Amino acid sequence: MTLKKLFLFDIDGTLISPGSVSRGLLAKAISAETGKTVELGYNDVAGFTDRSITRNALAKLDHGGMVSEDLLATILDRYIASMESEFLTSDVPFVYGDCITLLEAVEKAGHATCLLTGNLKPISKIKLEKFGLWDRFKFGIFADDAEEKSSMPRLAREKAWDVLAESYRLENMVLVGDTAQDAEAANENGCESVIVCRKPEKRELIESVNPTFLVDDLSDQAVVSAVI
Ligand SMILES: [Mg+2]
Repeated sequence: MTLKKLFLFDIDGTLISPGSVSRGLLAKAISAETGKTVELGYNDVAGFTDRSITRNALAKLDHGGMVSEDLLATILDRYIASMESEFLTSDVPFVYGDCITLLEAVEKAGHATCLLTGNLKPISKIKLEKFGLWDRFKFGIFADDAEEKSSMPRLAREKAWDVLAESYRLENMVLVGDTAQDAEAANENGCESVIVCRKPEKRELIESVNPTFLVDDLSDQAVVSAVI
């Protein structure tokens, strides 16, 4: 039998495209609580956690001195409430079929899977339930668990023990993501990574941090066979 691995799936840009819906709603929540106009672009959010995105946005507003845990929690609660009503009805988000093909191949080969994402857990649930994907994963590491992605692989390893009663070496864990931060989080922990390049202009940046595999399509047969 081949060695059993743990595959850690990122959500935004990897499993699904949230469009600009979720970052628009997070910006609105920050604006509503601070009274200042906030806009969040792709580069403000991709690869970061909901908590760090919010913290950075508040710092830019010069709200630095006032970033209390209370303010952060109030903004994130407002964001979750608006996602519950608006994300589910939006027809902008979609699933990336190539990632589902990879997920199916991983499951079929008998490997374990989990989520590893910068989204808060309730936000992850809203995003994945929309597409019937939430129940595909037994557990996950979310923004509630860590503020930075780099500490997430080790937490995933601990949780795999708690939830699955299975122990994985870091080198037998494979992070599936779409950003340079995902590749870095894997490298810093001695994990493998499969990074999909969804935006051609990001290729050079992703290449510069040396992911194990960099692909344009996650269903790429050569990569699927190499990693599984
Ligand atoms: Mg992502």
